[in-house]
Amino acid sequence: MQFVYMFSEGNAAMRDVLGGKGANLAEMTQLGFPVPQGFTVSTAACNDYYKENKVISKSIQKEIFEKLARLEAVSNKQFGGTHNPLLVSVRSGARASMPGMMDTVLNLGLTDDVVEVMAQDDARTAFDSYRRLIQMYADVVKEIDKKYFDQELEFVLKETGIDSDHDLDLDALKGLVRRYKVIYEYHANEPFPQDPRVQLMEAIEAVFRSWNNPRAIYYRKMHDIPESWGTAVNIQEMVFGNKGEGCATGVAFSRNPASGEKMLYGEFLFNAQGEDVVAGTHTPLTIDQLEKTMPEAYQEFYDLSQKLEHHYRDMQDMEFTIEKGKLFMLQTRNGKRTAQAAVQIAYDMVEEGIITKQEAINQLDTQILEGLLHPQFDEKALSVADMIAKGLPASPGAASGAIVFDATTALKYFEKGTPCILVRLETSPEDIEGMHVSSGILTSRGGMTSHAAVVARGMGKSCIVGCSEVAVKENKTAIIKGKTYREGDLISIDGSTGFVYEGRIGTQPGLLSDEFKTLLTWADELATVKVYTNADTPKDAAKALEYGARGIGLIRTEHMFFEKNRIRAMREMILSQTTVQREKALEKLLPIQRQDFVDIFSVMKELPVTIRYLDPPLHEFMPTTTQEIEELASIMSMGVSDIKTVIRSLHEYNPMMGHRGCRLAISYPEIAMMQTRAIIEAALEVKKTEGYDVQPEIMIPLVGDVKEFNFLAMRIRELADKIINEHELSLNYRVGTMIELPRACVMADQIAKSVDFISFGTNDLTQMSFGFSRDDAGEFLRDYDRLGIITKDPFASLDTEGVGQLIELAYHKARSIKPDIKIGVCGEHGGDPRSIEFFKKLGFNYVSCSPFRVPIARICVAQTK
Ligand code: PEP
Ligand code: MG
Repeated sequence: MQFVYMFSEGNAAMRDVLGGKGANLAEMTQLGFPVPQGFTVSTAACNDYYKENKVISKSIQKEIFEKLARLEAVSNKQFGGTHNPLLVSVRSGARASMPGMMDTVLNLGLTDDVVEVMAQDDARTAFDSYRRLIQMYADVVKEIDKKYFDQELEFVLKETGIDSDHDLDLDALKGLVRRYKVIYEYHANEPFPQDPRVQLMEAIEAVFRSWNNPRAIYYRKMHDIPESWGTAVNIQEMVFGNKGEGCATGVAFSRNPASGEKMLYGEFLFNAQGEDVVAGTHTPLTIDQLEKTMPEAYQEFYDLSQKLEHHYRDMQDMEFTIEKGKLFMLQTRNGKRTAQAAVQIAYDMVEEGIITKQEAINQLDTQILEGLLHPQFDEKALSVADMIAKGLPASPGAASGAIVFDATTALKYFEKGTPCILVRLETSPEDIEGMHVSSGILTSRGGMTSHAAVVARGMGKSCIVGCSEVAVKENKTAIIKGKTYREGDLISIDGSTGFVYEGRIGTQPGLLSDEFKTLLTWADELATVKVYTNADTPKDAAKALEYGARGIGLIRTEHMFFEKNRIRAMREMILSQTTVQREKALEKLLPIQRQDFVDIFSVMKELPVTIRYLDPPLHEFMPTTTQEIEELASIMSMGVSDIKTVIRSLHEYNPMMGHRGCRLAISYPEIAMMQTRAIIEAALEVKKTEGYDVQPEIMIPLVGDVKEFNFLAMRIRELADKIINEHELSLNYRVGTMIELPRACVMADQIAKSVDFISFGTNDLTQMSFGFSRDDAGEFLRDYDRLGIITKDPFASLDTEGVGQLIELAYHKARSIKPDIKIGVCGEHGGDPRSIEFFKKLGFNYVSCSPFRVPIARICVAQTK
């Protein structure tokens, strides 16, 4: 197996082996670009290093030295040589670019002897490079704090009265080298290595180690980069941007990475090495100034940047060095960009005829795009803000406002026009209006699919859940990091990151630009999977339509009863002890429910509308305060203590595994009958009055055995057909089920025989498969994360490995019985890019997500990368 490759042996397709930087250096070499030559130690060598307990094996070392010899031959220089010495840079480069996360050492190969040889030609550059090597080597290889060297440099600058190290003279640089060596020896307990081969091997090892430094680990986690990828290491002949006159080094993007504007956008420094530009220690000049001073080199660089953009079919982020007027390309990669720039660039590149629509869609990073749709914090204000806590980023968007601790107070603030953040231990249905009028929601308990999270996402409202650092007290205060916060105190929350800040931070609204809208229509042309929405109200449905949803995949009918005047009737129904009482309560619910459906059908016209029958874990609807219990007692003509007894009797230890879903309607079929009547009558009314051929899809939740479904479906179909006949109209309706229990997955072939469609309820399926409560698993999942047991919240992003297998099994079983059966997903995963990827590959007909996630989902389903 080959572990080390000359640049001339590789190409862009070898990214997995050579890392992004190595593969692109090889590709540029193949293209005949001016690239200083070198070789790449592969990612496999990095993995081998870790496998061998952090030792580079003898055989890999041998390969490295063989390639070094070839580099010496190609460059006609000698590493550590006393004649024409070769210096190299050692730079990291993983498969996915991780800017600035890992380490680099420049000027390797300099020793006390070599520097003198080099000095015969150019003494200043020689000693400038040597002092840089000692400092970088100390930092990267020996982990000696840079500050010791910086302090010394500052001292010398002060002593000589010079502003910048770029202007230090030879004597000063020689003095620095002497002192740096002393500092090095003091902290490393050994002198600076005088064998270049030792330097090289130690630097390669240090880069391997940097794969596991804390910031690299954090970055990997944020971007879903597996630890197993490892990093490659690039060893490249040094060229010098620090040789005085005619020398420069810089970085540039082929388009503006912030706005997307078509222009060369970059920074550079005269007489410097790359680190000076990226480390932010010197204030660089803008690239247009290079055009003025070195027009030829600039023009050549500009031309190459355009060629690279066409070649890679994407905006490029490039590093270059100009040595005595000669341009060298040191790196190119697809550039990181803001959401706004991503949209502009993808759109422009299609318009310019550089890429296809499919390539434009594939180019979009959906994780970044999410930001476009939600309000954002003002970047400047955010940079000086005080972060006080971190929770789970449940629903994206930035929000600032006064703390309120209950829904009633939130309403008061809303009426006054004062933005507020609802801070709760956890939320319950009573909070719904308060949630609605708040700018954001922060709960100290709950997971990614807890009530607060699901509801907030549905509303497109910024929300952080499971933020245990916020201790919400009974007396309407919250203690965060020992400080007490009271009602009215200002906080800001970022639902995209989970960060909580003290005080108010200004925000800017998110928006759908015309270019983004065009990209979305291109995506629709290309996608085979449709995007539906989860919407419980006509308003949400209209919003989702505006965002391009092609149907409703889930109406949670119980959510239609959260509002105050409705929740009473709902409670009445739940607390009923006799069929008569229940029917009386249902009679109150029927007209409300029917009108809601009329409104929703009118909005959705001839698009499918999937209505899930009541599925409340009953505890979500129980009154808790004495006042509410008293109210209910009087409505139901019962004593307060009787109501309390019923509530107690309804108490379940595991409400999520209790009397909910289809079980509720099996015990009380009159509930399903009321809902059927409401849906069918509403559909017929809209068909008759507005002429739309409405498409209701009735969905039975939490089925584990096909007999549960059959019991209900038979009654539903009987009643529906009866109503349709009475109206002497026709109506296309379907009756299907959710698959949200492991048993249902295993029995999906049997279930498929009876149902018209299947929708995976991946929230419950995840809960029931892991046995983790979706409401409060957050606490120990944090431990799991810390310990590396489960690092991705399975409620936010589908556990494709385990739960995914169940879905795959069910999918194939169902299709084996009915090859064309409509299959979708309506759990929260239907809006998560990584999960959508999974459903798309399997062949789902649709994914359904909250309105605000629809645009991103439309991009996801069209991506083919
Ligand atoms: C699910 O379980 O995935 C689902 C969509 O239903 P709910 O979240 O309402 O339980
Ligand atoms: Mg469910």
